[in-house]
Amino acid sequence: MKPLSKNIIIALVVVLVISAIFSGINLNSESPEEISMATLVSEIQEGVIKSIQIEGAEITILLQNETEQTTRKESAVSLSEVLIDYGITPEELKAADITVMDRSTRSYIMGVILPSMLPLMLLILIFWFMVKQMSGANSKALSFGMSNARENKDSKQKITFEDVAGAKEAKEELQEIVEFLKNPKKFSDLGAKLPKGALLMGRPGTGKTLLARAVAGEAGVPFFHLSGSEFVEMFVGVGASRVRDLFGRAKKAAPCIIFIDEIDAVGRQRGTGMGGSHDEREQTLNQILVEMDGFDPNIGVIVVAATNRPDVLDPALLRPGRFDRRVVIDLPDINDREAILKIHAKNKPLADDIDLRRVGERTPGFSGADLMNLLNESAIRAARRDDKVIIQEDILDSIEKVLLGPERKSFVMNKEEKKVTAYHEAGHALIAHMLPESDPVHKVSIIARGNAGGYTLKLPSEDRRLQKRSEFVADMAVMLGGFVAEKETFGDVTTGASDDLRKCTSIARELVTRFGMSETLGPRVYGNSQEMVFLGKEIHEQRNYSEKTAEAIDLEVDKFIRGAMDTARDIIRKEKMQLDKIAKELMVNETIEKEAFEALFTPAAV
Ligand code: ADP
Ligand code: MG
Ligand code: ZN
Repeated sequence: MKPLSKNIIIALVVVLVISAIFSGINLNSESPEEISMATLVSEIQEGVIKSIQIEGAEITILLQNETEQTTRKESAVSLSEVLIDYGITPEELKAADITVMDRSTRSYIMGVILPSMLPLMLLILIFWFMVKQMSGANSKALSFGMSNARENKDSKQKITFEDVAGAKEAKEELQEIVEFLKNPKKFSDLGAKLPKGALLMGRPGTGKTLLARAVAGEAGVPFFHLSGSEFVEMFVGVGASRVRDLFGRAKKAAPCIIFIDEIDAVGRQRGTGMGGSHDEREQTLNQILVEMDGFDPNIGVIVVAATNRPDVLDPALLRPGRFDRRVVIDLPDINDREAILKIHAKNKPLADDIDLRRVGERTPGFSGADLMNLLNESAIRAARRDDKVIIQEDILDSIEKVLLGPERKSFVMNKEEKKVTAYHEAGHALIAHMLPESDPVHKVSIIARGNAGGYTLKLPSEDRRLQKRSEFVADMAVMLGGFVAEKETFGDVTTGASDDLRKCTSIARELVTRFGMSETLGPRVYGNSQEMVFLGKEIHEQRNYSEKTAEAIDLEVDKFIRGAMDTARDIIRKEKMQLDKIAKELMVNETIEKEAFEALFTPAAV
């Protein structure tokens, strides 16, 4: 273990320093002049002695002029006896001021006790460090059941509703909670019950965490922030004890907000879990329910939770009296996207020609977090160009980077491959252009990006929530366009189409089994799409239909794919000239932008 070895090193250093100090004392004391007993006697008789110290056999003499001298005698006899033998008179002896120092003082300490004490001291030292460490671990074990919720009260980085763009309905809903928290008494005086909990639901990155912080910022109350997974530890009961601790702390700090992020980690429907933490999760969830029921609604604790999987939550959580306010946060629409971009562009120098509205148009389906990431990527790209401002191209390039992965410029295709890729992408683009139900083409490229050898970027002209059957069918034809174009042009197909085929097949399957869009099988859902907790649904899909139906589904899926294939083939055969034109242009320029692409279809551009 690292800290222990570190402590041992510290202990050794301490011991070394101590012994260095002691040995230093010995070395540094300047050695006084050694004299003979006869000299001492004559000095006594001359009366130049100030004092004499006897320490065992050693005699230290201090003269009147402060010089020190030493001499030795036999340790068995006393100095006065020796001196009297030398003929010193008792009067002279008295004047010499002789002090006898016990052996047990200085030299005894230095010579006997210290050497034997040192190993002991070392042991004590090591022991002390170990105890200290253990008590550290011990205190950790004691606080194990405490919640590690972070409370942030600092008003410096206060987030308000201003910092959240769009999400108008969600803000309105939460505004009410802010009112409650600001002035709980006003409501309770009227006999109104305050809401206990609000559940924010929305896709990842749509700003749930941000909104919860904004609520706390607006209300100016303490904010306990904790993620659902932090309740769950290896030991059963810890989560429940953390919940108790958290609510206890919150009640003391009321009015305040408890924010449980990603509550689905603990709030999953009970009884469906698999794996070890299952019991623990249930207990934790039960404790949350108990706490939420238990506190007086008017003390001003509001539990805000966020999840991107409301479908898996336990119904008990959603019951009135618990998370009775439910706030859905959608993916931002075009106006919201523009507003979000504006917020995140605030501290970034943008070139004058940048039109954030256009960026918003180009980014349907992007969440707030994606947009933030997009501007960040743009700034990085600008910095790498050694520019001081972000230009439109930085942003457009970053959109593709966010969507498809980074460009792989080093990916060199040989001439043959380049031709195949060009025809493949031209096939996608041509069909997308010819089918009115398909989204318009924004860009075609044969520069490799992420996993794709080339790509055709088509974007919806407006946001949409619902998708029509005819649009799915058109999309499938576009996906197969690459495959068909290769086949029609070269009489052979490559592995480049595998991803297209996979996507196309899964759409066809969904049309039949989930959306009821097959005429023969009718509006019915096939298969139980309840997702199992840890396994993907593909593995664990439950069949609620017969073998015969399974065959029929296969046939229908096949029919959809063949239909799309025929559409693609018809178009490509009829518009072979256009296909060649797009492919040739791609081989020369590698990328075609929207305007140039559309110009290829006007006869004048030949
Ligand atoms: P979630 O919790 O829904 O997964 P977050 O709240 O963590 O998403 O959002 C991630 C980041 O995306 C935020 O820190 C913020 O910078 C940005 N963001 C998301 N939605 C918005 C929005 N509506 N307005 C401004 N910024 C947003
Ligand atoms: Mg979040
Ligand atoms: Zn393709």
